[in-house]
Amino acid sequence: MRVAVASFEYEGNSLSLRVERREDFARIGIFEGQAILQAVEGKGLALTGGIHALRDAGMQIVPIFAAKGGAGGHVEDGFFAEAAARVIEGIAAALPLDGVYIALHGAMICGEEKDPEGAILAAVRARIGPRIPIAISLDLHAHVTPRMVAAADIVVGYETYPHVDAYRTGACAAGLLIRALRGEISPVTRMRKYNAIVPVLGGATLDCAPMTHVAAHARAMEAEGRALSVSYFPVQPWLDMADVGITGLAVTDADQDAADAVAQEILDQMWQRRREFELPAMTPAEAVQAAMEMEGQVLLVDAPDSIGGGASGDSPALLAAILAHAPKAEAALCIVDPHAAARASELGVGAEAEFAVGAWQDQRWFKPVSLTARVERLCEGSFTYRGGPASGAKARLGPTAVLRVGGLRLLVASHAVYEHLDEHYAACGVDITACKLVSFKNLMNYQKLLRPGVGFIALHGPGSTPLRLQDVAWENRRRPFWPRDDMAVPMPIV
Ligand SMILES: [Zn+2]
Repeated sequence: MRVAVASFEYEGNSLSLRVERREDFARIGIFEGQAILQAVEGKGLALTGGIHALRDAGMQIVPIFAAKGGAGGHVEDGFFAEAAARVIEGIAAALPLDGVYIALHGAMICGEEKDPEGAILAAVRARIGPRIPIAISLDLHAHVTPRMVAAADIVVGYETYPHVDAYRTGACAAGLLIRALRGEISPVTRMRKYNAIVPVLGGATLDCAPMTHVAAHARAMEAEGRALSVSYFPVQPWLDMADVGITGLAVTDADQDAADAVAQEILDQMWQRRREFELPAMTPAEAVQAAMEMEGQVLLVDAPDSIGGGASGDSPALLAAILAHAPKAEAALCIVDPHAAARASELGVGAEAEFAVGAWQDQRWFKPVSLTARVERLCEGSFTYRGGPASGAKARLGPTAVLRVGGLRLLVASHAVYEHLDEHYAACGVDITACKLVSFKNLMNYQKLLRPGVGFIALHGPGSTPLRLQDVAWENRRRPFWPRDDMAVPMPIV
């Protein structure tokens, strides 16, 4: 049996000014045809898991197109049109096919198209006709739309956050596709959605966090045989669109009513726990002062400027707070600022000079911070992810300078690169274990670095990934919505 496989993964953010172009995707990798099979090997991608499952089942794999772009503002329309055409036309050209598997993030937005995955899937469905099953895998933060679910027979989302199960999710989606192709099941997928958004920072599936209970409930429903697969999407909340909200979804064997009921039940599990997603947070100044009072190392989580949530990574708010309140503390901090990196490169290692750092792209909330620093190191910041949804993939900060200011080692990077662990610091020769304060611009992966003697403080404030969703000046959200409106009864969107 012939199964076409493709991926096109990107997480959008309406509040972010970043625009992702072809060259940004190309830095991580754009692959076509047989080159995809080699490109996915040794990685923990959803596409890798899907391909391995299909291969192990003896399917003939027809690789079409693969591109993974991380998170940012939106995908530039020209590159979206190009990539979408490669997926759609590539699959159409590969006919006759028995099945299709596509790895998507699910929260992509473009300049024009606000449901890009739905557009791609609807076009693929139109080209291949109604009978060839389509399976897709999605990120936990997908913005799932009725158009996506109408076009795909099988939809499976990540179970975990931090995301450690991309490979398994791809294998699971492909596994259901294989069962459908063998005639063992006739999968149907249904979704339910409420007009509610919840903070990403509180959405972990670890310890006793609210999503842990939601995940356990989903697995229990699967174990009871009520559904083939149950997914929950607390959704990427920084999308300013009327149809964005927490979503429940289920795949059953030919039973639409059961799929509806299970999707509704898992959605209600999230809704009932909505208040528990709020975590305590401090301003940068409060956080630095509190951290200096704490024993051991403290991770400072710059939540409002989370690169993994699509922010520019150029907020200097925490830098200013460290310089003001803990200038002598051994600290590590990374800020995206290609201009400052270029200036350091021109000056050379060992030079001491004035720099203006940060807010190079996003000046809505901050101005650059002026400081005198010594250029300690110049590098390209190249590394390989040691886990997470991009496990095994390579990344590059671009021309990067390590500036020394008092006790602080300040990485000034050229590109906003998804943070996993401390790979980006290590790639620039900065050993964070020696630091009292370490800054991270991600909302969850820092948790993997927590252990006895290592604490964390989350920051709140302005940015394009703010914690306080009720304070955002949304233009397109409909009222009432949680958390702006404290509704006793949820408002269904789908
Ligand atoms: Zn995610």
